[in-house]
Amino acid sequence: MSVISNNQDSPAPLKIGITGGIGSGKTTACRIFAAMGIPIYYADERAKDLMVNNLTVVAKLKSLFGKNAYLPDGRLHRQHISAIVFNNKKMLEKLNAIVHPAVHEDGIAWQIAQKNVPYTIKEAALLFETSSDKALDKVITVFAPKEVRLERVIARDESNRAAVEARMDKQMDDFKKMHLADFVIFNDGKRPLIPQIHRLHQRILKLI
Ligand code: ADP
Repeated sequence: MSVISNNQDSPAPLKIGITGGIGSGKTTACRIFAAMGIPIYYADERAKDLMVNNLTVVAKLKSLFGKNAYLPDGRLHRQHISAIVFNNKKMLEKLNAIVHPAVHEDGIAWQIAQKNVPYTIKEAALLFETSSDKALDKVITVFAPKEVRLERVIARDESNRAAVEARMDKQMDDFKKMHLADFVIFNDGKRPLIPQIHRLHQRILKLI
């Protein structure tokens, strides 16, 4: 019996991005892609991790926000930072100028490490806003009407309408995101998610 061995890696995976407004269902969609074996890079989660574990990022944040940027146990003092940046555009820009490049670099390293998969997905709420789409082959926007998103986020985060609307107001308009995307998933509670993702998966495989 002969065994055919193939030591060569497959071609570099296609780089797909997924975005959408808060509560649109990005994370839910990614879980379905992940169940089909697609590796997912959760940019917001990674950003939180880097803000605690990347020494360069930590040093920069301390110099921007002072020692109070971190709690005595080393965790990020989110309330302190949020209170400063929420209504201070300059400070928000400075925070982003520290975190976004670190996430970008981390994402590239992660991407390089992914082997023998047809494509990878980078999930980010601020994908177009951070120009991350430039480094991606295709972008998916998950769309849901504002009212549906509001209800979902209020339930998910045990938050209130005003607080969620304030977060929504800081994000790019969903219709603009749809317009900029290569593919749209409608997660409006009417069209089921799994068949749409399955079809999209097949379409992406055809691009390879
Ligand atoms: P995002 O990551 O875009 O903020 P999530 O994927 O966390 O959104 O979805 C927001 C909330 O809505 C979550 O609690 C999720 O379980 C729920 N959700 C998302 N899509 C659906 C759906 N099609 N039907 C019911 N609940 C949903």
